[in-house]
Amino acid sequence: MSLDPERARAWFALGVGPLWVLRDEAQTYAAADPRAVPAAGSARAEAIAALGWDELQRAVAECTACALARTRTQTVFGVGDRRARWMFVGEAPGAEEDAKGEPFVGQAGRLLDNMLASIGLSRSGQGDRSVYIANVLKCRPPGNRNPEPGEVALCEPFLRRQVELVNPRVIVVMGRFAVQCLLNTDASIASLRGRVHEIEVAGRRVPAVVTYHPAYLLRNLADKAKSWADLCLAREVYERAAAAA
Ligand code: SF4
Repeated sequence: MSLDPERARAWFALGVGPLWVLRDEAQTYAAADPRAVPAAGSARAEAIAALGWDELQRAVAECTACALARTRTQTVFGVGDRRARWMFVGEAPGAEEDAKGEPFVGQAGRLLDNMLASIGLSRSGQGDRSVYIANVLKCRPPGNRNPEPGEVALCEPFLRRQVELVNPRVIVVMGRFAVQCLLNTDASIASLRGRVHEIEVAGRRVPAVVTYHPAYLLRNLADKAKSWADLCLAREVYERAAAAA
């Protein structure tokens, strides 16, 4: 691949090209307290926002911006139709996702597949059945600990670009960390579910529905009924959006 100046700036800003200064900057983040949140609107975030699908996937695969790069087996980018009508966003890879390189492949993944099927969607679905699934973090936090704010801030631009590229008609936001990232709030899932939110995507306001993370539902079976209600709401929102399209 030839490296024209504009492309070089993008790669350099990502810390995946031969720009030692910015790679050093990434290593500074990795060495620093992961709870420290880097400044928003950085050159790195702007560079990520300009990438196409293949460049974005490569940038994630080569990313060393936070300390999770040291302990991952591989990055977990996303799965599904890149032009899907639906997008589901979770938290971070677990051990099985880290081993396979695909989001939601363990027990929580099987539950998510059942949730998708309940509203007529599948990972390999097309058209109205299509879905793209991604996490906020692309690397597994060791021991499945919670993501740190600094890690979320550094990884968030990748997710935001995925959302822009998919340009879905509805987004289902699963769990606290996806909510914090995409809706920019610390409010509880309980207080946010049952109504329609909006996420700005490339100048367009995309409806979003909040629900529990499948891993949480495995531990809290009583909340499965609430999750089913959330999916029904998302289905209604999608049908309204499809009718208006
Ligand atoms: S979690 Fe995200 S920011 Fe951190 S190394 Fe992995 S891809 Fe990069």
